[in-house]
Amino acid sequence: MTAAGIYIHIPFCRSRCSYCDFATDVFKNNETVERYVSALCFEIQNSKSKIQNLKVDTIYFGGGTPSLLTAKQLEKILNAVYKKFSVLKNAEITMEMNPATVSLETLRDYKNLGINRASFGAQTFDDSELKRLGRKHTAADVRETIELLRAADFANVSFDLIAGLPRQTLKDWKRNLDEALKLKPEHLSLYLLEIHEGTPLAEQVRSRRQPLPDEDLAGEMYELLIETVAEKGYAQYEISNFSLSGYESKHNSKYWTCEPVSAFGVSAHSFDGKRNRWANERDTLKYVRLVENDESPIVEKSEVNLRSEFVFLGLRLTKGIDLREYKKRFGTDLIEEYEKDLRRLVEAELIELAENRLKLTRKGFLFSNEVFAVFV
Ligand code: SF4
Repeated sequence: MTAAGIYIHIPFCRSRCSYCDFATDVFKNNETVERYVSALCFEIQNSKSKIQNLKVDTIYFGGGTPSLLTAKQLEKILNAVYKKFSVLKNAEITMEMNPATVSLETLRDYKNLGINRASFGAQTFDDSELKRLGRKHTAADVRETIELLRAADFANVSFDLIAGLPRQTLKDWKRNLDEALKLKPEHLSLYLLEIHEGTPLAEQVRSRRQPLPDEDLAGEMYELLIETVAEKGYAQYEISNFSLSGYESKHNSKYWTCEPVSAFGVSAHSFDGKRNRWANERDTLKYVRLVENDESPIVEKSEVNLRSEFVFLGLRLTKGIDLREYKKRFGTDLIEEYEKDLRRLVEAELIELAENRLKLTRKGFLFSNEVFAVFV
């Protein structure tokens, strides 16, 4: 039987990074956070989501910076989840954190609460790049965070790096990768920088204070990344995600395999695993007021085309999609349905068919949007 995931959004950060377009506010005072935590618990307890009939095998605290919460606040949220949902004993419980926001004591408290996976944003090991991105930590803080996590007994640690930063050379990127691998995380998420409208970085690029990322160089960085991490035993299992064997993110994998996820908090997006998606209010204070007034924080509901999502989300995984499963779920043959497009994509060496699976090629990973456009 399918198990569900729970996502909890914590929309507070110490400051705003220049490239960030996530739903997050600058942490002002604990009073706002307390009010938010109470609203969150109320939303969880009063959720009418059908997912509550399923077992839960992943919980994910994302943000924002969840590590700005105290252990007491996290405990309150987890208790609300345990009360409402049937959480499996060995559930993967991930918490996103930022370097320089945790101490050994707080990490031990988190561990005692059952949090067993840590994911944090390292982004780069170059202090001048960190500064340009508006990050409030240094590379030394990243190394210290890993040390603290190990000292607190975290055996499943992931961190993010960003490639294609303004003025970053291939050599700089290689140095970053080498530094990252020295720390031996179990999991790595490696992204190419995206410029989002409305962010300070977009403005800096527009006013030419920062150069536009070079697409060819980004491609070379991606190739180098795949080779470098593979040499150290990391397998790529998704476009941007790499792990040692057995350490793939169970929670994030749910999004790529169209499994149900119930999400709570500001801007949280849920999916029932069948066809319904719904999303919460994006503004923190509006969200809190809605919940406090016993009104629904859901501001958007949509029905998805599961057939198309199954294909383009599944193609993000290196194992691709199982054509027999597609036929079983949707009653038609994918190859016949998209024959002309698939032939073109195979000829362009963007996808391949093997052993009843449809997968992106290495080139396809680089030009994935071209492939996904066929199925959206
Ligand atoms: S720490 Fe993460 S969520 Fe917060 S502003 Fe920076 S990128 Fe955005």
